[in-house]
Amino acid sequence: MTQDTETRFFGAIEAGGTKFLCAIGTDAGDIVDEARFETRMPETTLAEVRDYFETSRRKWGSLTALGIGAFGPLDLNPSSPTFGFITRTPKAGWQHTDLAGTLGRELRLPVVLDTDVNAAALGELRWGAGQTLDSVAYVTVGTGLGVGVVHHGRPVHGLMHPEIGHVSVRRHPSDPSFAGACPFHGDCLEGLAAGSALVARTGRPLSEAPPDDPIWAIEADYLGQLCALLLLCHSPQRILIGGGVMQARLYPDIQARMLYWLNGYVSAPAIAAPNYITAPGLNTRSGIKGALSLALCAGSASVT
Ligand code: ZN
Repeated sequence: MTQDTETRFFGAIEAGGTKFLCAIGTDAGDIVDEARFETRMPETTLAEVRDYFETSRRKWGSLTALGIGAFGPLDLNPSSPTFGFITRTPKAGWQHTDLAGTLGRELRLPVVLDTDVNAAALGELRWGAGQTLDSVAYVTVGTGLGVGVVHHGRPVHGLMHPEIGHVSVRRHPSDPSFAGACPFHGDCLEGLAAGSALVARTGRPLSEAPPDDPIWAIEADYLGQLCALLLLCHSPQRILIGGGVMQARLYPDIQARMLYWLNGYVSAPAIAAPNYITAPGLNTRSGIKGALSLALCAGSASVT
């Protein structure tokens, strides 16, 4: 894409525990430039990020705003003195880091920060598998398990932001003794169903499990319980599940287990449709496009 006088450019950051993916995009959702930096100590990585956007300005002109979808937990309370900070993260060196404030001041840009999963949910609603909808839940099942929810174009916040990956679920009858892998709760949902839990339980990732291994039914049941919970608590119009653990055969089984746990209590025909629980439409681009969609929201809840 070449510059013209009509196009506005935005900065986007998918801030993860292993890499920061930085990009320049347009309000049409086109990513025109990107770079990635290893997540090292905050001062090192944030300096690389700042330099990237400063250099990008020389090519693309001034940026309108910066959107950041980040690992957390985050302080998203606008009245808090640490608004825009990464707070009690287990990521070494990143506890109590003023992520949004630092980049906003140094780049002189309005910044919109949200969780990586809320950002991805927003990106899916705008440009992905939720384009025709008002509300979606976005689930990623990777090393950890995160959930973002967007209603009417706005990510769900409150006191802070939801941490749905750490809810408790009922134990599957074939999984009675695994203690769970969550350092905070043991056998919460993440502790039972995330990638690290699967490796801790079976010694291998789900993708390497034989087709008849009981772990498939166990995983589908736990994620089915999550979907039932999401439906009961947030009533999303669609549930998108991505991440490195997900395999195509899981989707119908997860939906079947969701319907089992609901036991007819929610009777909306949509929840039995084949696309109610589906893969993200943006595939691996949900995160960066989500961060871009946050930038487009600048002005409604920005840290400057
Ligand atoms: Zn937990």
